[in-house]
Amino acid sequence: MSFEYAPAPESRDIVDIKPSYGLFVDGEFVEAKNTFKTIDPATEETLAEVAEADADDVDRAVAAARRAYDTVWGPMPGAERAKYLFRIARLIQERSRELAVLESIDNGKPIRESRDVDLPLVAAHFFYYAGWADKLPYAGFGPDPRPLGVAGQVIPWNFPLLMLAWKVAPALACGNTVVLKPAETTPLTALAFAEICAQAELPPGVVNILTGAGETGRALVEHPGIDKVAFTGSTEVGRQIARSVAGTDKRLTLELGGKAANIVFDDAPLDQAVEGIVNGIFFNQGHVCCAGSRLLVQESVVDGLLDRLKARMATLRVGDPLDKNTDVGAINSAAQLAKIRELSDSGEAEGATRWSPPCELPERGFWFAPTVFTGVAASHRIAREEIFGPVLSVLTFRTPAEAVEKANNTPYGLSAGIWTDKGSRILWMAERLRAGVVWANTFNKFDPASPFGGYKESGFGREGGRHGLEAYLR
Ligand code: NAD
Repeated sequence: MSFEYAPAPESRDIVDIKPSYGLFVDGEFVEAKNTFKTIDPATEETLAEVAEADADDVDRAVAAARRAYDTVWGPMPGAERAKYLFRIARLIQERSRELAVLESIDNGKPIRESRDVDLPLVAAHFFYYAGWADKLPYAGFGPDPRPLGVAGQVIPWNFPLLMLAWKVAPALACGNTVVLKPAETTPLTALAFAEICAQAELPPGVVNILTGAGETGRALVEHPGIDKVAFTGSTEVGRQIARSVAGTDKRLTLELGGKAANIVFDDAPLDQAVEGIVNGIFFNQGHVCCAGSRLLVQESVVDGLLDRLKARMATLRVGDPLDKNTDVGAINSAAQLAKIRELSDSGEAEGATRWSPPCELPERGFWFAPTVFTGVAASHRIAREEIFGPVLSVLTFRTPAEAVEKANNTPYGLSAGIWTDKGSRILWMAERLRAGVVWANTFNKFDPASPFGGYKESGFGREGGRHGLEAYLR
């Protein structure tokens, strides 16, 4: 049975979007020569004009970060740094409703997710690393681990504030200063974070936020004045960055794409597995690097599972990201929508069967209905390439060994999921899956204490947990 829900829109009044934003350098907002627009992907309305940093701006921000590192933040005792991080964490909690609404407006993700997943995890990340700042000598990296210096950090648009937290919190806890570039389609919460740094009276230059597109990112990672590059984004750009950093003294971590297998055995609790599959691929419109985008189902249960999955997909509400009932929001950009369409069309052209529940999509904005492909062969593009959208490719297997072989048959290795009643099978599978994170009877669960990162073309280095400190210590 499906219910009609009355609209339950979250109010936008709590956010105050300014007509224009500058760059945050050395503790102040400063203008740049050029600007670009950020839009609301659910309506295509312009939200604000945002400064586009050029090479001179990058120079200034790196110089400010270096000064702050040499004179204030580097020499500061860990216990003092922790106070600032705890303050930032509390300010994020205090302003979390505002930040959640702003994130949903700029990114298109449902308010239910930004409010209940992104923002709690952002605050938790700062609290977690605040706790490490005065305990670094006990973290297992020697009695006196030292910071690296200035970190240049570049992040994508799918979890704008959460990716910022993953980058900024461990860097600052370890005593580094940062210059961070948010993605060009989602700069607004990073700029709100800049305000929070000022509110927390963080010393000027410790955090610098440079908005801009790929060229700004390139100028930052190629700048000779930085000691560390941390990048999250596509494998293609990650490769370029690895080339540009090679032969320098810069340290590098890369968090790149994924094509995770979510593996369902015949003894799995199927209703729970369906929830996990839905969460694995339709959470955040499938704009998730570790999304369970390949569903591997044991052949004997595939029909029953697909019936349940389709029935569940028919209840997903697609639409206004600010409506509290919305499950699937807007696709982040016209470019991403075009990429999802192109790959989905290739699935049909290569012979897979496409299905979406009947669902009315809003006229304006960027939307894509939840989609499942059956009859997918391992050679199809939709089985090999990252779609980064609400599109699931279903393959089948007969034995655990075949499941492992198919799951590992990808250039990526970020995550995987296993659904089975048998603990021994979970352990047997987890040992053989070439993936940084393996979830068992759940999917897309994150915790600041738990390291996250990839194998193969999904990148290297770990973020989160004690492991996440290593990337910012000498
Ligand atoms: P993208 O690589 O195009 O952009 C990511 C960031 O890099 C943006 O800020 C962009 O402006 C910047 N950039 C672009 N060209 C650059 C260059 N030459 N030098 C420096 N910076 C440059 O990726 P995207 O499309 O924005 O993000 C989606 C990708 O990110 C997906 O492949 C996804 O899997 C990946 N991702 C990975 C993780 C992870 O933790 N592994 C998390 C989120 C997203």
